[in-house]
Amino acid sequence: MMNMTETQTTLTIPLADDFHVHLRDGDLARTVTPLVRSGGVGRCLVMPNVNPPIQTVHDALEYKRSLLHIAPDMTFLMTLYLHEGLTHNELERAAEAGIVAIKCYPRGVTTNSEHGATDLMAHADTFAAAENLGMVLCIHGEIPNDTERGIDIMNAEEAFLPELKRLHTTFPKLRIVLEHVSTAAAVNAVRELGDSVAATITAHHLLLTAEDWANNPYNFCKPVAKTSADRDALRAIIKEGHPKFFLGSDSAPHRQAHKECEHPKPGIFTTPILLPLIAQCMEELDCLDNLAEFVATFGRHFYRLAPNKGTVKLERTPFHVPDRYGDIVPFAAGTTLNWSIPSPR
Ligand SMILES: [Zn+2]
Repeated sequence: MMNMTETQTTLTIPLADDFHVHLRDGDLARTVTPLVRSGGVGRCLVMPNVNPPIQTVHDALEYKRSLLHIAPDMTFLMTLYLHEGLTHNELERAAEAGIVAIKCYPRGVTTNSEHGATDLMAHADTFAAAENLGMVLCIHGEIPNDTERGIDIMNAEEAFLPELKRLHTTFPKLRIVLEHVSTAAAVNAVRELGDSVAATITAHHLLLTAEDWANNPYNFCKPVAKTSADRDALRAIIKEGHPKFFLGSDSAPHRQAHKECEHPKPGIFTTPILLPLIAQCMEELDCLDNLAEFVATFGRHFYRLAPNKGTVKLERTPFHVPDRYGDIVPFAAGTTLNWSIPSPR
């Protein structure tokens, strides 16, 4: 295997796929969407939890059109928000229209999830249809807080894993992505389940532990970053180059006023710095040679997509992360990364 770490000063890889991003709408979308390409990404899976959520094919295609208007050089893969009114006909239309995934939020766990699912098996018909149509089910895998059952933000993901296993056993051909895994338990569960179950990993969960968000709203997201042992399990699976684990940034911008307040909204904004951030992390883990597979191969294989056209070049020159983009403060604001993407368009 080629050793890239010591002297490598440039790195050219295919444009990346980000299989989980929040692009919002209105002003926020206009700020955020053009920055996806700046972060080295050419194609992204757009989450449907705008307000109101994207629940119909019509709304998904309208949303896609509005995003393409802002960033015509991007490929946007659209998702539908799982809800009780999602009919088989609508799913068939969705598959025909190229909508690749259904997104399932357990009710109340994160931003705009108050329309989410309460009992997963209440959606069994939808899952069966998705399985037949070859659509992917993306799951925010956390059980909502429940003091009686002792479920809180630290164990909510692990508590969800039996549900994941049950879902996979019931629908073994349904491709399921457990999104933004944050625990060693989730990594192990996904590794042990069949090939139809994969996971996305964010940049920030590779870097943070609970210490980091306790006093910093810009490091606060759902699922929260957990222990160093959990973080290290994510790092290990990346270093191993396991094909069921691929990039989904879960970059989720909020305005400064919604972060620096009594109840900060969960979400970390990594979009404009995404590949430099991941390259730095993987270099520190001595697995920079896995970068292209993690960001541009494993995910598209799982989603059965062709490679992106075009490449992105990273240079080992310092990148000073801006304090803000519009009124959004990015992850690692004001710090300097080792890698940059030259000549942003
Ligand atoms: Zn998300």
